[in-house]
Amino acid sequence: MRYYIAGSGIVGAVLAAELAKKGHTVQVLERRAHAGGNVYDYNDEYGIHVHHYGPHIFHTNDDEVYRYVSDNSELKDFNLVCGSVMDGKCVPTSFDFSSVDTFFQEEAEEIKAHIKAEFGDRASATVLEMLESQDSYVRRFADFLYEKDYKPYTAKQWGIDPEKVDRQIFKRVPILFSYGSKYFSDKYQAMPVKGYMEFIENLLKHPSIELRLNEEALDRFSIRDNQVMDGDKPLDGILIFTGALDELFDCKHGKLPYRSLRFVWKHEDIDSFQDMPVVAYPQAEGFTRITEYKKLPVQEVRGTTYAVEYPLPYKQGEAMEPYYPVLTEESQKLFRKYYDEAKQVRGLAFAGRLAEFKYYNMDQAIRRALDLARELQ
Ligand SMILES: Cc1cc2nc3c(=O)[nH]c(=O)nc-3n(C[C@H](O)[C@H](O)[C@H](O)COP(=O)(O)OP(=O)(O)OC[C@H]3O[C@@H](n4cnc5c(N)ncnc54)[C@H](O)[C@@H]3O)c2cc1C
Repeated sequence: MRYYIAGSGIVGAVLAAELAKKGHTVQVLERRAHAGGNVYDYNDEYGIHVHHYGPHIFHTNDDEVYRYVSDNSELKDFNLVCGSVMDGKCVPTSFDFSSVDTFFQEEAEEIKAHIKAEFGDRASATVLEMLESQDSYVRRFADFLYEKDYKPYTAKQWGIDPEKVDRQIFKRVPILFSYGSKYFSDKYQAMPVKGYMEFIENLLKHPSIELRLNEEALDRFSIRDNQVMDGDKPLDGILIFTGALDELFDCKHGKLPYRSLRFVWKHEDIDSFQDMPVVAYPQAEGFTRITEYKKLPVQEVRGTTYAVEYPLPYKQGEAMEPYYPVLTEESQKLFRKYYDEAKQVRGLAFAGRLAEFKYYNMDQAIRRALDLARELQ
C-alpha cells in the first residue's frame, strides 16, 4: 500500500516509521521548511539548545511510549521545576508550602496548620476545593494564588476578561501540602540528550520513507464526493492527514478557533536570567511566561538565551501557528461536523493535535500514532 502523510510532526513521523516497518511506501509532505512539527529544536547561534515552538519536556506513564522514545533517541532523566513570579517573588509551581512561607511570613505556620486540620493526611487539594473551604485561613491562601496567578494568567492565555474566568476550570489544579514541588508527577520524565529532532530524524530515515519539505499537502490533495483526490484523480493509496481538519474541507462550515503564540527571543551575556527554566509572570503586561533554555536541561555555556511568550488569537493565513484549540461547546460542535464528514471519506485517515482538535502531550500523540498504525493494514 502507498501512504501519504500530511505533516511531519510527532504523529506523522511515528506513523511513517511504523507503516514503513510494515513494508509500505510512505511519502510525507510537510508545509514547513523543517520536519518535527512543534517539537522542532536546534542549537542557536550562541550554541544554546532551544525549542523553536516553546519548551517541550517529555513525561509519561505509558511504558510502551517511553520505550519507543528511548529506542529511537538517548534520553536523560529530567524533572522540570517551574516557577511563578508574584509581587516580584518567584516560587515553584505546582504551588506548595514554600508559597505559604514566602507570601505569609508571620502567619505561615498558622495557615499550614489550618490546611493540615482541614485536609488531614492528603498530599494535595485542588485550588477550587481550597477556594471553597469554610476555613478563612485556607481560603486566604487560595484566594491569594487565585487573584495573583491563576486568574490573570488564564485571562492572558485565553484572551478573556479576568472577571469572566470560570473558577471551575481549576478543578484539577493541585496545590501541594509539602515542599520540593515538581511540575509533572509522571513515572518517566526526561529530555532527549541530542534534542527531539534526533528522535524525529531516526523515525524518518527508513528507506521507504520520502520526506518532502515545503510542500503544502492541500495544493495536491482535496476531498470530492467522499473521496480523496490526488489532483484530478482519485487517490491511489491512503492519505493520513495530521493538519487542521477545517482546512482539509476548505473551512466550509467555518474556521475552528485557536490561540497562537508569539515568541520574542533574547540573548544576554549573563549567567542566569531567572531562577528556573520556565517561569510564569501572571502580573506582567502582555506576556505569560519566559523559558530560559540553558536550564532545560542544564547546559554549561556562556550567556543565556530566553524566549518571552505572548499569547494572541490565531488568524488563518497570517504568519502564525495554531497552538491551542479554543475548546467551547460551539467549537466542539463545529469540529464534530468536520469529524463526521471526514469519517465518511474513502482513503482518508486523520490523527494528531490539529486533525483531532484537541491538546495532546507528546506521549499522547505517540500513543495515538502507534494505535492508528496498528489499525491500518
Ligand atoms: C507551546 C507548547 C508547549 C508544549 N510543551 C509540551 C511539553 O512540555 N510536553 C509535551 O508532552 N507536549 C508538549 N506540547 C505538545 C506537543 O507539541 C504536541 O503533542 C505535538 O506537537 C503533537 O504532534 P502533532 O504531530 O499532532 O502536531 P504538530 O507538531 O503540530 O505537527 C503537525 C505538522 O503538520 C504540518 N502540516 C499541517 N498542515 C499541513 C498541510 N496541509 N500540509 C503539509 N503539512 C502540514 C505542520 O506544519 C506540522 O509540522 C506543547 C505544545 C505547545 C504548543
